Amino acid sequence: MNYLSTRGHPDRRRFCEILLEGLAPDGGLYLSESYPQVDDATLTRWRGLPYADLAFEVLSLYIDDIPADDLHALCRKTYTEAVFGTAAIVPLKKLEDGLYLEALSNGPTLAFKDMAMQLLGNLFEYELARRGEELNILGATSGDTGSAAEYAMRGKQGVRVFMTSPHGRMSPFQQAQMFSLQDANIHNIAIEGVFDDCQDIVKAVSNDLEFKRRYKIGTVNSINWARLMAQVVYYFAGYFQATTSNTQKVSFTVPSGNFGNVCAGHVARMMGLPIAQLVVATNENDVLDEFFRTGVYRVRGSADTHETSSPSMDISKASNFERFVFDLLGRDANRVRDLFGAQLTGQGRFDLHTDPAFAQAAARYGFVSGKSTHANRLDTIRDTFARFGVMVDTHTADGLKVAREHLQAGTPMVVLETALPIKFAATIVEALGREPDRPAKFDGIEALPKRVQVMPSDVARVQAYIAAHCP
Ligand SMILES: *Cc1c(COP(=O)(O)O)cnc(C)c1O
Repeated sequence: MNYLSTRGHPDRRRFCEILLEGLAPDGGLYLSESYPQVDDATLTRWRGLPYADLAFEVLSLYIDDIPADDLHALCRKTYTEAVFGTAAIVPLKKLEDGLYLEALSNGPTLAFKDMAMQLLGNLFEYELARRGEELNILGATSGDTGSAAEYAMRGKQGVRVFMTSPHGRMSPFQQAQMFSLQDANIHNIAIEGVFDDCQDIVKAVSNDLEFKRRYKIGTVNSINWARLMAQVVYYFAGYFQATTSNTQKVSFTVPSGNFGNVCAGHVARMMGLPIAQLVVATNENDVLDEFFRTGVYRVRGSADTHETSSPSMDISKASNFERFVFDLLGRDANRVRDLFGAQLTGQGRFDLHTDPAFAQAAARYGFVSGKSTHANRLDTIRDTFARFGVMVDTHTADGLKVAREHLQAGTPMVVLETALPIKFAATIVEALGREPDRPAKFDGIEALPKRVQVMPSDVARVQAYIAAHCP
């Protein structure tokens, strides 16, 4: 399998070449040249597989530059009951007839990002050892991404993590999760500023090409193709659990921010998985809902980007969206380059509502959308707890609220549970008047010693810190 850029760069790359990279050289996103097709016989064969073996089957279709035995071993090392809590890895919970939750948040940091990041940690370690290289991952986080990256990379050979976060602005639980890690290769940098300051620092360091090359700076953000591909697997696993025959269709609702998670659903659907609808659920930051309703994609400024009770979906633009638009426009790289390059840079928006392709988003690709407000999420948390005794977090509540608006008789609806309530305890207390349940392994985590360096928002200080911690 070869990979191309959504903006038409002539080069084609192999999987391990793009594994450690971010954007393509022309600013586009990498995508496979084609989507391998999964037929009925293959679905039947995959139906009974343990999760790790299913992951190997899916990944093998996209990775041909890692020997099969090695890839299989990496999958089995990643997706274990010890790490993800159950043998099913992503068990389906039935709420009522036709409505299910797929549990994606039982990994080490209790959010779905572990599903991909745990594999990425093992792939990075494998590939870096094979090349005899090292990598310093520099990131910015407001919570979920940073902790998932740290728990995936801790103790890994050849990798160091330098994770910036806004000082004092993450939830106490999220701070405890990250700052209690004592591994020598994990560095927490709390920046005296907001999340945007952290992101600006990462950008500035990445644009310092001499520094970047010298200190082998890399990233693990959600545009990474390996992360997206790892997420394709649980759409198959969810489908198999919700059906008994390949003639049945299933819909998925996905709490969305950067469009990474639901883009993996799109890839699964393009491979032939019988998915009816892909329901994109946003919060008050409704960039994506607006597009699927109106055909207008409009990037928000920071004044228009709201801080919500589902903070992992608080985005001003959806960084993976370009991959879907590339497919929607018949893989016309010239148009994608114009839309995401010239038009977004110049006008901050583009409009496809008169384009015949826009009508295909729903008809041909199954995409529909909806959004929730804080009040909707509180209601959904209360209602779900009262009726089913199930406590959901604010992101999953967003998904459930929107899912109910798109139910179709006879088609099971699977809502992806993207985090556990304990990560967003304040809103649970607001909704239910009680603290969320806490998995036993996190008892007393806030009292553990913390390893974190507090720093002013200053690029040179961060660079000096990285230099001092790279032998
Ligand atoms: C990251 C995240 C999301 C959004 O996922 P995208 O891939 O950015 O669309 C939703 N919920 C939770 C809990 C997250 O951590």
